[in-house]
Amino acid sequence: MEIAKTVESVKRLVKAARSKGKKIGLVPTMGALHIGHISLIEAAVKKCDFVVVSIFVNPTQFGPGEDFEKYPRPLETDLEICGKTGVDVVFTPAPQQMYPQENITWVNVEKLTEQLCGQLRPAHFRAVATVCAKLFNIVEPDTAFFGQKDGQQAIVIKRMVADLNMPLEIVVCPTVRQPDGLAVSSRNQYLTEEQKKDATLIYKSLQKCREMIDAGVTDSETIIAEMRKILSQAPSIRIEYVSIVDAETVQAIDRITGKVLAAVAVKIGSARLIDNILVDTSKKR
Ligand code: AMP
Repeated sequence: MEIAKTVESVKRLVKAARSKGKKIGLVPTMGALHIGHISLIEAAVKKCDFVVVSIFVNPTQFGPGEDFEKYPRPLETDLEICGKTGVDVVFTPAPQQMYPQENITWVNVEKLTEQLCGQLRPAHFRAVATVCAKLFNIVEPDTAFFGQKDGQQAIVIKRMVADLNMPLEIVVCPTVRQPDGLAVSSRNQYLTEEQKKDATLIYKSLQKCREMIDAGVTDSETIIAEMRKILSQAPSIRIEYVSIVDAETVQAIDRITGKVLAAVAVKIGSARLIDNILVDTSKKR
């Protein structure tokens, strides 16, 4: 496995692989790798011949007062994980490599970024879209792998690739959960044991949503009220949003129909946690 710290070196390594006819896979991450990231790496290893994992805590996607400084950066452990999972290159650029000068060009995916996290984290998605566009231009992957865990991000990136005719395929992998349902996340490290227990209510609320939809409830407000009730069982949970949106347009819907994304964002202690499920009602009714 190679470790590339510069844009030039990762480009060189990928170029050599491509010249041998290898299909290139990219897994963009911010590091602190866990089984969620590993599932993406495994999907990439399965589908592609040459896998690049980028580890870059992108400063531009953190808002003022967010956890950019304290975001975990256990590089040695991350490299060990990559070494064991069949990664060919780990791209670990310093911010100066990615942003050698003030960045004044941004990719702004409209509409899909107005709701959910986009409403609470202004400029977050344009920074995510921009850094992904940069990574796609640097690595030129045939396929890039993202997690359903960040559902809105996956929708935004897919749309950017479609709208800008970017020559790659986006694969979205299912959310990896702990046995108790909590979605695995680098930010779970911020939680105490007690808070981790409270955090299991997030998935419980999403399961309730699925149950209600399966039982034929079509009024979003009724479902959201039940989800909020579950989350309010733990006083440590501060709800940021509980929403049901159309899974394509990411616009809130009053009546459940077609493919919907139920999404939750909460704060517990200093951690901001998000989770979601996709429900396709057209398959059931
Ligand atoms: P991050 O390092 O948090 O930016 O995540 C990098 C990629 O891993 C993103 O595409 C995430 O959606 C994905 N990811 C993070 N957690 C999980 C999880 N629990 N299951 C599946 N994918 C995940």
